[in-house]
Amino acid sequence: MAKYTGPVCRLCRREGVKLYLKGDKCYSDKCSFTRRGYAPGQHGQGQARKKVSEYGIQLREKQKARRVYGILERQFRNYFEKAERQKGITGENLLVMLERRLDNVVYRLGFADSRVQSRQLVRHGHFTVNGRRVDIPSYLVKSGEVVQLQENSKQSPLFKDIMESAAHKTVPAWLELSASDMSGKIVRYPTREEIDIPIEEHLIVELYSR
Ligand code: SF4
Repeated sequence: MAKYTGPVCRLCRREGVKLYLKGDKCYSDKCSFTRRGYAPGQHGQGQARKKVSEYGIQLREKQKARRVYGILERQFRNYFEKAERQKGITGENLLVMLERRLDNVVYRLGFADSRVQSRQLVRHGHFTVNGRRVDIPSYLVKSGEVVQLQENSKQSPLFKDIMESAAHKTVPAWLELSASDMSGKIVRYPTREEIDIPIEEHLIVELYSR
């Protein structure tokens, strides 16, 4: 499946839920979903009445998760297969793995406004992991590792603003933020309760187990 390059707010309206893809705008009254919470397109307002099959529900749940984390189908399937091979509950393993992506961790630490932005910042080589530059957004962080903004990036005006706002943000308990030196430690992996995304992961497991 090709990468989606259209307006991202359409994705929220398509999935019928806020996916928080646009940073601060998502929390304001400018949010398109708040203003027009029905599916996009000419027949959008009638879609809520349409009966959806079990397969359709499972498919939408998977699409929702892909869109939140911005992942292509093939890669998402790979995550699922890895999650299945791990001990524990497959759906939870899948979400924990998605949370461990470097672009997600940068976003969770408040070093970017959205996952789209954090992915771009990672790709441009602004972050290190345990002192080594990592420019791969899909890099999976491990417990004990430290993600930090590169020394020379701290001088950029973009990061000066981000550094100021990061100091006021709360980060999930599995991460430890040090806003003064723009670093964050992965204390442990998140539990399911700590992953605040509106996904019923068991539906994704059911979809791929068909
Ligand atoms: Fe979704 Fe954010 Fe756009 Fe609202 S502003 S529709 S939450 S991406």
